[in-house]
Formats: sequence, structure tokens, C-alpha cells
Amino acid sequence: MISEDGPDGPDGPDGPDGPEDPDDAAKNPAGAAPDQERTAQPTPERPTPGRTPGRLARPVRGRLADGRELLYFSDADAAGPAGKARGPGGDPGESGGDPGGPGGETGGAGGAAAAAPPVAPPEDPRDLPARPDASELRYDPLTGEWVSFAAHRQARTHLPPADECPLCPSRDGQPTEVPAADYDVVVFENRFPSFGPLQVNPVSEPRLGAVSPAHGRCEVIAFGAGHADSFGDLGPVRARTVVEAWAQRTAELSAMPGVEQVFAFENRGADIGVTLHHPHGQIYAYPYVPVRALTHLARAVAHRERTGRNLMGDILEFELGAGERVVERGEHWTVLVPFAARMPIEAHVVPNRHVGSLDELSAAERAELAAVYLRLLRTVDALYATPTPYIAAWFQAPTRHPDRAEARLHLQLTSPRRAENKLKYLAGSEAAMGAFIGDVTPESTAERLRQAAARIGARA
Ligand SMILES: [Zn+2]
Repeated sequence: MISEDGPDGPDGPDGPDGPEDPDDAAKNPAGAAPDQERTAQPTPERPTPGRTPGRLARPVRGRLADGRELLYFSDADAAGPAGKARGPGGDPGESGGDPGGPGGETGGAGGAAAAAPPVAPPEDPRDLPARPDASELRYDPLTGEWVSFAAHRQARTHLPPADECPLCPSRDGQPTEVPAADYDVVVFENRFPSFGPLQVNPVSEPRLGAVSPAHGRCEVIAFGAGHADSFGDLGPVRARTVVEAWAQRTAELSAMPGVEQVFAFENRGADIGVTLHHPHGQIYAYPYVPVRALTHLARAVAHRERTGRNLMGDILEFELGAGERVVERGEHWTVLVPFAARMPIEAHVVPNRHVGSLDELSAAERAELAAVYLRLLRTVDALYATPTPYIAAWFQAPTRHPDRAEARLHLQLTSPRRAENKLKYLAGSEAAMGAFIGDVTPESTAERLRQAAARIGARA
């Protein structure tokens, strides 16, 4: 409702799974996609043009009681031997990476466990109902957009008390979505997904009246076991683990049949509509290229045809030349407030090298990203005395689109907060026409961010 990016779709912002049964699960009637059989595009098997994945993390894999996949990413694996070794069965009360618990043998103190073989994770002791059927996609011929209807999502958990948090590690008598005593970063399939669980057929031919099963996948990524933390509270090693998890998920989801776009994002703060306080983000694998990503791609292709140059490369050059909207310039990344920023707080994190997706980043780029991104989140939180709600959205090149080579990976962080106690609401012009009217100049936003960064830098 607040962001034009609309990452949460018509169901409102997303929360991951909870204890309720999806008893009003949306039933996707058989034959709901009449033109499935004659749908010829996009072809899932088409090779991905120009994709050169870097090194990928090797998570420990498990299954939840209803068959959903669960993956543990370890700080030690992400950061190498200097990282802290801790398996999914580790005990947070014991220092030194004690290997005890079902997820043990991931290494001892000193963290020489980066190359430790995967171990069996703890089993999920719950008795869960069967997973709901896929939601339904309907085509809007007025806008050319698909809309996902997931009635079962009405049953999902909404701001549960801390002792019922489904993202906290499991305790005796209190099983959660994470059947381990502790974890670093965990990813699992959403129990009430807007897309998936099946990934079989491409979406139907877009035309008036078209419906299609909402294939794809929705995953939850929990940034740590600490319920009261936020991403900005994480240390640099943990931030790097999250980056590695994003990269690994991007590569794996992109390779799944029918997945056209992988979108990692975080909604932070109840004002954005977050339904769980535990620090977490989400990763959507869409069965089509969403309209915003298509727009970016079309603009980049048009720019290439007109100038022979890459659009984001020219934007970066333009911003570095002007300088006044640049918040931070690193060796591998640039943080800037865009020339025509729509939201009261908006910052883009752009790789200096042309790269399409997170899995294509080099080790040095991932390391600097973890530091730059943490600094940006802490900077945003230094603007006001209380935490600022935000949406952090990764724009990646579509997985198989023939023009994907023109799309450059970047993060867009936006917040509707325009004053200590004021939020920008998208009303008539923005919500209905998509015509934005800015409240503050991008130059003043950049200056405030630079000043806040200097303040936290001075405190550190
Ligand atoms: Zn929690």
C-alpha cells in the first residue's frame, strides 16, 4: 500500500508461516488454466544468457514435517576459517562453536569448519497438515500484470507474541518452523506461499480472462536466532552470511523450471505491514517477469539502442559526476539517492561492475556489499530516534529473458517516513496514476544520510 514497488502483492505484506492451519486454503480448480497446453513461452530449458555464477555456499539441507525444504547457512561457511563455526543443532549458550546436538560435527572452537561436510539437521517433530494448493494467477488486461490470489494466506500468523514466534529456534515443548536449537541464517519455504509450491508450467498466454496456477516458490530467510535484533544489529560476518544465502538461493531458484525472476527483499517495521518482528526477509521466485522489472529492462534496451551504452552504467557515471546525491563510493559498490527519488528516504546500492544477479558477484564484491549494506541500514536508523520502517528490494536480471544482459543488479531501499512522526501515504496521484510528487529533494536526503553516516562513524 505504501510502496509503489508493491512487493507484497494484493495480499498485503508477507509474513512467513505460523501455527494456524490453512483451513481456508484456496483451491485451484482443475483445468483452471485452459491455455496451459498451448503455452509455448517462456521456455524453462532455455540456457541463461550471460550468467557466470561465482562461488556458492553449501547449506545444510533438511525438510520440515510437511515436506517443505529448509536450508541452514553457517557463518563459518560464508566467512571462511575466521568465521564462527556453529551447526544448526548448536547451543547458543555455549561459546566456541560446540559441535553438540544433532547438527554437530560442524567444527569446534576456532572455526576450522568452513569445509566441514554437511550434516543431518534436526528433524521437525510437528504434525503439520498437507501444504495448500497453488494460488491462482489472473491476468489484468488493462495493465498487462498478473495478480496472485492466495486466500489461504489470510490464515497466516500476524504479529504473534515473542514466545510463539515461528522463526525463533525450537525449544523443548515449543517447536517452531526451525527445528534446531540455534542457527546463523536459515531459509525455508513459506507455509502460506503466494507462489508455489509447484514449479512446473509456465504461466498461461496473457489475454483477457487468462488464469494460471501461481507456480514458483516463496521462501523465508531468517537473519539470525535473536528475536529482538534487526538486520542493522547484525555483525559483518552475519551480514556476509546473508549475502551468501541470497546468492545461493538466486542461483538455485533461477535454475528451477518456470522461474523467470528471483526477488529477495525485506520489509522492516509494522508501518510497512510486517507481520512478524523476528528479523527476516523473503525470496520470491516468480513464474513471470513482474511489470517493474520488465519496465527497467525495456528502458535499458531502449537506452542501448539509442546510445550503444548500458543504462545503469550511465546512471552511475552521471551520479558520480554530479556527486551531490552520492552517499558512499566504495571499490565495488556505490550508494546513492536517485536523481528522481520517489520516496522521502530512498537509496540505491549499485555495483560498480556490470553484473546481473547476486550469484554472479565475486567474493570481494560480496564482502564489500555486506559492509556497505550494514552501514546503510545503520545510517537510516540514525536519522531518527526510533527505528525507521523500510523496504529493501533487490532488482536482479530476469533469469532467462533474452535481454537480461542489459539489467544490472541493484538494491532499492525506500521508506515512507518523511518526519519523526509522519509517513508518506500513496494517495490519489501516486496510487491511482503512478504519478509521484516528491516531499523532499533527493539532494537533501543524500545530505541527511551523509551526516547520519558521519555521526555513527564518529560513535564507532
Ligand atoms: Zn523470534
